[in-house]
Amino acid sequence: MALSSKVLFLAMDAGNQSLIREWAGDGTLPNIRSLLARGLVGKTMSLDGLYEGATWPSFYTGLNPAQHGFHSLKQLKPGTYEFCRRYPGDFIRREPFWNYLSAAGLRIAILDIPLSGISKGLNGIQMVEWGSHDGVYGFRTWPPRLKLEVLTRFGRHPLRISCDSYGRTARDFYSFKNKLIKGVQRKAELTIHYLKKGNWSFFAQVFSESHCVGHQCWHLHDPRHPNHDPEIADYTGDAIRDVYKAIDGAIGKILEHATSDTIIFFLASHSIAHNIGGNFLLSEILERLNLAKKGRNGIAAKKTQSPVKNIYAFFGRGWQKIPTTIKTPLKPAVLFLHNLIMHRVRSEDFLLLPPSISNIDLKNSKCFPLLNGNPVSGIRINLSGREPNGLIKPGAELNGFCDEITKDLLSIVDWETAQPVVKSVKKTCKLYHGEYIDHLPDLLIEWNDEILLGSLGISDGKGSRLRMVSEKIGVVEGANTYCRTGEHRPEGLLIAVGPGIKAGRIERTVSILDFAPTFSDIFGVKIPYVDGNPISEILEMLKYKR
Ligand SMILES: [Zn+2]
Ligand SMILES: [Zn+2]
Repeated sequence: MALSSKVLFLAMDAGNQSLIREWAGDGTLPNIRSLLARGLVGKTMSLDGLYEGATWPSFYTGLNPAQHGFHSLKQLKPGTYEFCRRYPGDFIRREPFWNYLSAAGLRIAILDIPLSGISKGLNGIQMVEWGSHDGVYGFRTWPPRLKLEVLTRFGRHPLRISCDSYGRTARDFYSFKNKLIKGVQRKAELTIHYLKKGNWSFFAQVFSESHCVGHQCWHLHDPRHPNHDPEIADYTGDAIRDVYKAIDGAIGKILEHATSDTIIFFLASHSIAHNIGGNFLLSEILERLNLAKKGRNGIAAKKTQSPVKNIYAFFGRGWQKIPTTIKTPLKPAVLFLHNLIMHRVRSEDFLLLPPSISNIDLKNSKCFPLLNGNPVSGIRINLSGREPNGLIKPGAELNGFCDEITKDLLSIVDWETAQPVVKSVKKTCKLYHGEYIDHLPDLLIEWNDEILLGSLGISDGKGSRLRMVSEKIGVVEGANTYCRTGEHRPEGLLIAVGPGIKAGRIERTVSILDFAPTFSDIFGVKIPYVDGNPISEILEMLKYKR
C-alpha cells in the first residue's frame, strides 16, 4: 500500500552539509533553515572510497558499487590493459528505481539526476544534463521532443562547457559565479514550469551548480586554502555562499508550488571541501616501490595519440620546465590555448588518460593507478588469472603483496610536517561484494585530509608542491597542476518534510543506498534486490500518520 501519493526530491549535488547547516543557522539560507526546522533531519554517507563516481548510480539503483561496477567515467576493462569510457546509463545493468515506479503506472519527472541515462518509455518526463557537472551524454530528454520545447522556452544552461578552466582571473571567477547563479535561477523556472504541468507522483530535480562551484571556488571561500587570495576573494565574494544562496532561493520558489500532500526530500549528496592528496604522484611512488614500471603500454598509449592530445599532454609536463622569465609574459595566451584545447578534447570525447597512467607499462607492472578522483586513489593489482599478464598470484602472494604495499604507503610522510600522507589503505573486496567487483580498483588509498593542496592552475600556484619521503621511496615531489581547489567527501545531509513527518533527528547515518528502497516503499512498489534499507524512521511516521 502506498504511504504517500506525492514525493518531491530536490538535491544539491556535492553540497557541503556543514556549510549548509552553518548558513541555514545564520539565516543565509532561509528556505533550507525552514526545512531543517520542520523536517526529520539526518546525516548521510556515500560509498566508502568510491564516492566520487558511484554516489549517484548507487543512489538510483540502491546497489553497492560492486553490484553495478561504475566508479569513474574512464575505467579499466577487466581482463585487459585497456581503458574505456563508461556511460553509466548504458553500462549499469540494473534499472533506476524510477523505472519501477513508472512501470507501476505512477507519473514521474526526473530532471538532471547526475550520471543517469535516458529511461525510454518513462511514464512522464526526463531531462539528462540540461545543467549537470558531469557531461556524459549532453542534453537529452524523454520524450525526445521535449528537448526542443525546453530549449525554446528556457534556452541552454548559461555554463555551456565543463567548469574546469585554468588561469581564471578575479573577473573570470566573478563571471563564472554569475553564470552558475543564472543557471540556478533558470533551472528554478524550468522546474516550476514542469512541476505545475503534470500531476506527478515522483518529481526530482538536482542542482549541480553546487558541485561546479565547490570544485572551482573552494579557495575563494576558505582562507586556509593555499590558493586563497584575499584581494581576489574580495572582488568575487564567497562564490560558494552565493551559489548556495541562489539554490536556497530556487528551492523556496519551487516549494511554493508543491501541494500540501507532498513529501519533500532534500539531499546534499557527497560533500566538497579543500583538495587533498598525492594522487598525481602515485605512479611515481609505485615506481619507487618497484611495483609499477615506466614505459609506454602498447594498448593504453595507442588511444592517446592525436596532435590535439599531444599538445594537451605537453601542458602537464613541459610547461613546468620552462624558465619563469619566458613563462610569465606567455601565460595568458598559453592558458587561453590550453583551455580551448582541453574543452575540444573533452567535447570530442577522446579517451584522454593522465600521464600517471599512460606513461606506465601496465602489462609489466605489479600494480598501477586507476582513475578514481583525488581524495581516494584507486590501484589495480596485475593479478594472475584475471589480467592477461598477471604478475601476482591470488591467495598468499596477493595477501602478502597487499600487506606490504599498505605498510609502505602508510610509512610515507610529508616533508614539511612529518605527518603521514596516506590515511588508510583499504581492500575494495572487504568493503563491497557483487558480480561487478572486477570493474573497481582493488585498493583504495585515502589521502590525509589535514594536508591542504594548492593548484598550479590557480593564480600564483601557491601550495601546489607536495614533497613526501620514506625510507623506501626516498623523496618524491611534484606540483599539482589540476585546476580544482575543492574535492569531494562522502558525507551528506537529508531532510524529509511533509504530512505525517515530525520534526526531529535521525540518530544514525543514512546510506546513499537507502533512498531507492525508501521511495519504492513509500509508493508500495516492489523493486528487485537492493543493498540499501528503507529509511524506517520516515516510513514509520508515514504509516502511523493518521
Ligand atoms: Zn566532482
Ligand atoms: Zn562542474
